[in-house]
Amino acid sequence: MRGEEARVQTNAKVAVFPCESYDPGLLDRCIAQAAEDAGFPDITGKRILVKPNLLKAAAPEEAVTTHPEFVASVLRFLWGRGAASIQVGDSPGHQNGRAVGKTSGILQAALDGGADWVDFVPGESRPAPEARLVKSFKLASALDDCDLVVNLPKLKTHRLATYTGAIKNLFGLLPGLAKSSMHLRFSDKIQFGTMLVDLGLSIKNSFHFLDGIVAMQGEGPGNGEPFPLGLVFASRDAAALDWVAASTIGYDPKKIPYLAEAIRRGGHDPDAPKIDTGSYLVDKKRTKGFKLLPYTAQANASLSEIPHYLEPLAMRFLAERPIFDKERCIGCSACIRICPAEALELGRLKDGKYQVLIDDRACITCYCCHEVCPVGAIAIGKILWRPNWQRKRK
Ligand code: SF4
Ligand code: SF4
Repeated sequence: MRGEEARVQTNAKVAVFPCESYDPGLLDRCIAQAAEDAGFPDITGKRILVKPNLLKAAAPEEAVTTHPEFVASVLRFLWGRGAASIQVGDSPGHQNGRAVGKTSGILQAALDGGADWVDFVPGESRPAPEARLVKSFKLASALDDCDLVVNLPKLKTHRLATYTGAIKNLFGLLPGLAKSSMHLRFSDKIQFGTMLVDLGLSIKNSFHFLDGIVAMQGEGPGNGEPFPLGLVFASRDAAALDWVAASTIGYDPKKIPYLAEAIRRGGHDPDAPKIDTGSYLVDKKRTKGFKLLPYTAQANASLSEIPHYLEPLAMRFLAERPIFDKERCIGCSACIRICPAEALELGRLKDGKYQVLIDDRACITCYCCHEVCPVGAIAIGKILWRPNWQRKRK
């Protein structure tokens, strides 16, 4: 019998609670009840690291980041449960964490809530003994001084991963550009998902509260639209939480490879995972009209292995690629800085407008550029061909 088959399946607990707004009193009751139902551990005298989603600088109502009232409520809960110290931090892809914390309101929520702000810098290399691809990760040093990670993801669609919640939010524990190097190293989407699961499962001491009060639909994780879902999810088990949350908004989580792998490696059968979600049943009307992204294409979309004459066909049929809108682009270069493949360059057209130029043969279709664009000037789609004025010269 193989290792996975030999595992004993245990019921994972995922608490799902209706919470229609970020009203502090309502949130406090909901967080406390969800924590109770999901088996929140004893944290008396413990050091806590709170990890919200700080993808990029955006106002709370845009649903790009975890809502600051959600963070504030969790901090009150943690102090009430006897935490000795609390640090709050994250590592956005290309911006300074503190600056993103300021715009999103999370920095103020942390300081008002009596926590310390922490900027993520690389710490000790941490072994991931159950990993399939990455046997150790150099994660944020803040982890070295904490007893429990309280992970506060935002429920969002995601161009690369299809859905993002608890597991994907832990990717932010890799400081700064270490995330880009993972994209480059695992440009194959299946491998990237396996790496995410390796990382997620290596963080043993964690608890997860998912902010699904206002979720993000459509072009997530950075440029979608807010959707008032009105739900909070909580669990000790990141994979089970994501499985339940992805199902709730309408996905079949078995079709999202990293979720299927995470649930399998957590000891569950993806066809019938044993997850206890309590007595509350989500009304289908609550999720009606939620705009899902299509399931991520399985193919490795790099063009570098394909003969030049087949490029138009490959571009059309194999991969969805970034498409840059010169009417919206403000020339901020965020996409260029984040691109792990150095596939982009900023150009200027005769009419003064900015045009981002792309080397499609270098692009690994990680969609990091799409995530970080502050003005939604990057669409993802299939294109037949690009004119020369949109191509980066090699
Ligand atoms: S151009 Fe965009 S999608 Fe392509 S590798 Fe760079 S960041 Fe990723
Ligand atoms: S496409 Fe977006 S991120 Fe890139 S330079 Fe233009 S505005 Fe900035």
